[in-house]
Amino acid sequence: MVRVRFAPSPTGPLHIGGVRTALYNYLFARQNGGKVILRIEDTDQTRFVPGAEQYIIEALDWLGIKFDEGVHIGGPFGPYRQSDRKPMYRQYAEQLIRDGWAYYAFDKPEALEAKRKEYEAQKKTFQYDCNTRMQMENSLSLGMEEAQRRIDVGEPYVVRFKFPNNIDITVHDMIRGDVTMNSRLLDDKVLFKSDGMPTYHLANIVDDHTMEITHVIRGEEWLPSAPLHVMLYKAFGWEDTMPRFAHLPLLLKPEGNGKLSKRDGDRLGFPVFPLEWHDPKSGEISSGYREKGYLPEAVVNMLALMGWNPGTEQEIMSMNELIKLFNVEHISKNGAKFNLDKAKWFQHEYFQKLSDEQVGDLLEAQLKEHDIMADHNYIVKVAAMMKERITFPSELWDTCSYFFVAPTEYNEKDVAKRWTPDMHIHMAKVIEILNTVPFEYDAIHKALLDDYIAANGLNTGKVMNSLRIAVVGRTVGPDMITLIMMIGKDETIRRVQNAIDKLKIEQ
Ligand code: GLU
Repeated sequence: MVRVRFAPSPTGPLHIGGVRTALYNYLFARQNGGKVILRIEDTDQTRFVPGAEQYIIEALDWLGIKFDEGVHIGGPFGPYRQSDRKPMYRQYAEQLIRDGWAYYAFDKPEALEAKRKEYEAQKKTFQYDCNTRMQMENSLSLGMEEAQRRIDVGEPYVVRFKFPNNIDITVHDMIRGDVTMNSRLLDDKVLFKSDGMPTYHLANIVDDHTMEITHVIRGEEWLPSAPLHVMLYKAFGWEDTMPRFAHLPLLLKPEGNGKLSKRDGDRLGFPVFPLEWHDPKSGEISSGYREKGYLPEAVVNMLALMGWNPGTEQEIMSMNELIKLFNVEHISKNGAKFNLDKAKWFQHEYFQKLSDEQVGDLLEAQLKEHDIMADHNYIVKVAAMMKERITFPSELWDTCSYFFVAPTEYNEKDVAKRWTPDMHIHMAKVIEILNTVPFEYDAIHKALLDDYIAANGLNTGKVMNSLRIAVVGRTVGPDMITLIMMIGKDETIRRVQNAIDKLKIEQ
């Protein structure tokens, strides 16, 4: 039975890199008929940010990444928040000490700082490890009896992992293959503190084991910690059930140099968070995909392809298709560059998948904000016609407003280019034609374009674009005759007359 977990720390809003990690876990679990678990890793209380846990839950829910067990829904392996599991970690730290895999350390921050300085002065870097641990104050250098005495009188301590000297530790990574590191390079990481809180490393391994996690799929930034994790499984005697590891490539800046950061998003105008985030301390607001109008399906599809591909050219994939096609073998080893144009392209594609009725509803809401009431069927018809020009719902008003209200101003550049001094004569003729020919597409088309414009040797672009300026306010929009048919004869005539009056005076 496959069991995977997404294990964020509630230290702020969830970065889209984290969302991608959650998504890959979800896809992998669903594909294998397994379970996906949401565990909150909040052992570092100094980095705790109120609201972050709720944000993570809401963001993943919005994206359709659903969990089988977790902090918000419970489950048979709970609790799923590490601070709620606090009492269970001590016994594991003690087990490691008993078995010679860990030791108590009493070094005060000042003593550690002094050591660091001492090494710096010799142009060396201090590391608490097999070479230095005997110079420090710990149960190895002081003896267990003295250590126990200090603990009994309430001296603060930490528990450190005791890396064996000079052994090669291999992490079998599903994406990278075997990654080997020598223990000489690794420091004796703190696993537990005297306040009863484990550090990330201990809590993470104990929880993965007790929650029966089979695969750890997480960001590449955790690869340097993986040798310690592998050693912890060995030290606990849990090697036979050790999960398999997959470290995902980084999400990179659009230029490809370095990790995608919030600052890149601000600089280039795209969100790096799924939902808008209001920082509780600074009050700063960071934009979110949801508030920008992105559809969750578009975000999911885009993120799925940042670091993975199905092995074909296919780009548009629903969550269900992704579940079918996902495979760890096709996850790239290299970082994936963020591409804003591609993000918008996905959004446009998914916007087109909305029904005319859905787009109509979005448009109707915006019309109401502008105090405009219109027939629902008419709104849906406009939505159907204009949908392909829209990427974000926020564009609806600007793109469609002239179907409902006459322009109040005319684009200056367009007027300067098209509305020549003789134009009022031609526009008066347009009014005359609309008043006399049957109000039908073909009839209007023939009367305007053939019998008037062509027959008099006029410039079609100039006349038709001037008509468009009168009706729309600028030279954009759908087929002109269709537009006239939509807004109606009387309204068209009113707008053309308006333009004649206004633009004549101005000229
Ligand atoms: N709490 C870690 C994080 O915030 C989890 C890393 C892991 O998945 O092991 O990313």
